[in-house]
Amino acid sequence: MSFELPKLDYAYNALEPQIDARTMEIHHTKHHAAYTNKLNEAVKGTNLDGKTIEEVLAVVDKQSAAVRNNGGGFYNHNLYWKVLTPGGSGKPVGELKTAIERDFGSVEKFKAEFSNAAATRFGSGWAWLVKENNSKLVVSSTPNQDNPLMPVADVKGTPILGIDVWEHAYYLNYQNRRPEYIEAFWALINWDVVADYYKK
Ligand code: MN
Repeated sequence: MSFELPKLDYAYNALEPQIDARTMEIHHTKHHAAYTNKLNEAVKGTNLDGKTIEEVLAVVDKQSAAVRNNGGGFYNHNLYWKVLTPGGSGKPVGELKTAIERDFGSVEKFKAEFSNAAATRFGSGWAWLVKENNSKLVVSSTPNQDNPLMPVADVKGTPILGIDVWEHAYYLNYQNRRPEYIEAFWALINWDVVADYYKK
């Protein structure tokens, strides 16, 4: 069994104007494809062969940098494509909204904390909305392709929303203006998908 690059649920130009088609195409067919291929090379013939990506990420502290970086890259981009949808899906509702208000005070306060985590992540990495094992929601950020499923993460749990703040995710359209990309990201979120991840 090997890991497969997923197809996207929308066209490369479907997230415009917030994310341009060329960025999407390169991001998916070059960056995500490379993480996927290199992950398969890294696990081939090892005791990780045939494991799920979650099982791989749970033991990356004992693995090579290739497994950690490409395993994270494979998983993180799978999540990123899923939590985005053309035009977004409105606002958090139901159980997810209740949990956000319980743990952050309001949806606006959560958005401010998440945007700040994304803007202040030095260099390349990700910001996350994480469901901790006690179901509490927290915001965190990780460097490179790390994520909250890894034992090496400062904040551990299940990521239910993530933003890629590597320059490859926004540079063609926004250049050095990462905060503008982060602001635009809010208009693309599929809150139904995030709510499903919260319930699991
Ligand atoms: Mn990326």
